[in-house]
Amino acid sequence: MSVAEYMGLCLLDPKDGYYPTRDPLGSDGDFITAPEISQMFGEVLGLWMVQCWKDMGQPETIHLAELGPGRGIMMSDMLRAAKLVPDFIKALYVHLIEASPALEAVQGQTLKDSPAPISWAQTLSDIPDGPLIVIGNEYLDCLPIRQFIQKDRFAGRAGWHERLVTVEKNADDLTFAFALEPISTLAAQTLPSAQSKAKNDDLVETCPSAHQLLDQLSDRFERQPGRALFIDYGPETTEFGDTLQALKRHEKVGVFSDPGNTDLTARVDFGALNEIAAGLNMPTTTPVTQREFLSKLGIEMRAAALARAKPESKPKIARQLERLTGESQMGELFKAICFQSQGLDLPLGFRKVTSIQDGDSNA
Ligand code: SAH
Repeated sequence: MSVAEYMGLCLLDPKDGYYPTRDPLGSDGDFITAPEISQMFGEVLGLWMVQCWKDMGQPETIHLAELGPGRGIMMSDMLRAAKLVPDFIKALYVHLIEASPALEAVQGQTLKDSPAPISWAQTLSDIPDGPLIVIGNEYLDCLPIRQFIQKDRFAGRAGWHERLVTVEKNADDLTFAFALEPISTLAAQTLPSAQSKAKNDDLVETCPSAHQLLDQLSDRFERQPGRALFIDYGPETTEFGDTLQALKRHEKVGVFSDPGNTDLTARVDFGALNEIAAGLNMPTTTPVTQREFLSKLGIEMRAAALARAKPESKPKIARQLERLTGESQMGELFKAICFQSQGLDLPLGFRKVTSIQDGDSNA
């Protein structure tokens, strides 16, 4: 099977998959995410979303969709901050898109006192018409990836072969192999443009579900105003190499060590996302580091205010801020990127949005 099939089964099989059968987050779980580190993360994102609503002309109804909301903590922090603007809350409908029944139950509990109506949707297409804000933190990294290896660089796109997961000869163990046939012409078209620079044995990854997601977003944003923000780990431009990794109890383990019981993720290729958006004519920002993004949203000021209110927590707040924005922590590895409908200004926190349709960019 392809690496994408393996990843999809391990993560989402309804009976044995990783997400549907557990709550994997937090210090007792397998991994920890920014909203779990500190309330400041969701709070500044709450103000970011209020600014989006203002950028859209303060519509009377605004839909907010969160993809992969985990334990619902980020949404809860966002809503608490957004309560500062009652007209926004009055306009707001929240939609959560979650693949795990276990986490859906936790989200319901976390958000039981939400100031805005909350409902769960299967996909983005279930969300009613109207202006839309989409947000996803550490969502793209768990979408299944395909991997391809360049076997004959002189053959260009025809030199790529898909990496597969197979059973080892005379054993039950899983191992990697690669397809003898080269990649189909259709799949070859989905490779990022950096593929042309590959040497023999270089590996490139693609994420078909992310591609589909951008397709859906661009389709919707062509018809109605919208903006989608994703924060995740990965490089600004395509890099070669295998990035599939498994985590268990905050430690890296082998990707075949315990299928269905470890968290499988892969680095998000932000350069490829930019290329896909350009191909769809959807305005997209250049990615910025989490450090720059949160700083522009005023996270240092929020940290200072929290420390003033609770002086005994000052060292803890400083540590949390460092984890979120420190160069050697999440600050540089994580990036933010935004996609939006034509005609919206530069979103808060970013440097540049490129709009292919009118051939220019504004900063
Ligand atoms: N955003 C949260 C959780 C990140 S973990 C946070 O930052 O803490 C990834 C989340 O995405 C989990 O909630 C997981 O169940 C969900 N998820 C994974 N694949 C999904 C899919 N295909 N569709 C919807 N949700 C998915």
